Amino acid sequence: MKLVFATHNLHKFEEVRTMMPLGIELLNLNDIGCFEDIPETASTIEGNAQIKMEYVKEHYGFDCFADDTGLEVTILNGAPGVYSARYAGPEKDDRKNMQQLLLALKDAADRSAQFKTVIALCFRGQTTLITGICRGEITQAPMGNKGFGYDPIFCPEGGATTFAQMSQEEKATIGHRGRAIRQLLAVLSASIDA
Ligand code: IMP
Repeated sequence: MKLVFATHNLHKFEEVRTMMPLGIELLNLNDIGCFEDIPETASTIEGNAQIKMEYVKEHYGFDCFADDTGLEVTILNGAPGVYSARYAGPEKDDRKNMQQLLLALKDAADRSAQFKTVIALCFRGQTTLITGICRGEITQAPMGNKGFGYDPIFCPEGGATTFAQMSQEEKATIGHRGRAIRQLLAVLSASIDA
């Protein structure tokens, strides 16, 4: 059966496609002829994941799932959160976003934060929201050059290295997105077996 991952990001897509249970053919937005940017207008991470999932269901009729991720910093009351990509402006510049966050935390004693990935799934008539969380701390300065986004300034709980100093496999094992995707796979497998 066909299932759409509502993303244009082929790197993200390929990573998830190879993990799909037998019997599911995973398609991306390009595969179904959806070349537009789906508007992400919600004020929560959950809301944006749901908007993207519902857009595909409504306009293209496929079962599908969509993900949305944000970095929530405790002392900033959860900011940048849903606005993580555009924290320092609409150009979505990772380097500027990190600089802005380091500045906001300049004298902060509490540097705790968490990454949150939400996946909204619509499969066989059922809608499910899945959450993957990774807790950690914002470092004083960027470290490492792997990954993307805020990876160089996020040090997951219990370690001394940032996401940007880890291999992709290490990050997937403890990271927010990996946790959410493993839950997604469990939900899909259970639903296929039912
Ligand atoms: P998206 O919902 O996956 O597009 O993520 C929104 C924004 O959150 C991105 O533009 C990044 O700035 C940030 N982000 C998402 N996932 C990660 C991650 O795994 N590491 C670092 N930053 C991330």
